[in-house]
Amino acid sequence: MSTIFGRIIEGTLPCEKVYENERILAFKDIYPKAPVHLLIVPKKEIRCLQEIEPEDGPVLAEMLLVAKELAAKFSIADGYRLITNNGKKGGQVVEHLHFHLVGGKTFCSDTGFD
Ligand code: 5GP
Repeated sequence: MSTIFGRIIEGTLPCEKVYENERILAFKDIYPKAPVHLLIVPKKEIRCLQEIEPEDGPVLAEMLLVAKELAAKFSIADGYRLITNNGKKGGQVVEHLHFHLVGGKTFCSDTGFD
């Protein structure tokens, strides 16, 4: 796998793992933008949301269920954001699809992190 997240999935880079099964890995963001900032990543190397295929539907749905479980586990179920950045213009830096689960603070009603 070619990205930092690929190396984390392969186990050659460490992470603070919060969830794992055969298809999905979730871990703490190294530069958290909120008190809770987790990354939910499919183990399949999908570059970004714009490159998903119909066959990826089940893992994408499972990522949403993992987000729900982690929100409860990290006590943010009453309010959080689930975000994916798509492409450089969308603010994506790591080219391996991931959802940011951010919470533990009150967000404004806009579309950014802050
Ligand atoms: P993007 O901008 O691609 O949507 O988000 C990438 C995220 O990955 C950023 O929030 C960044 O802090 C996080 N990140 C980058 N490198 C690492 C790393 O080596 N470990 C962890 N845990 N997070 C990382």
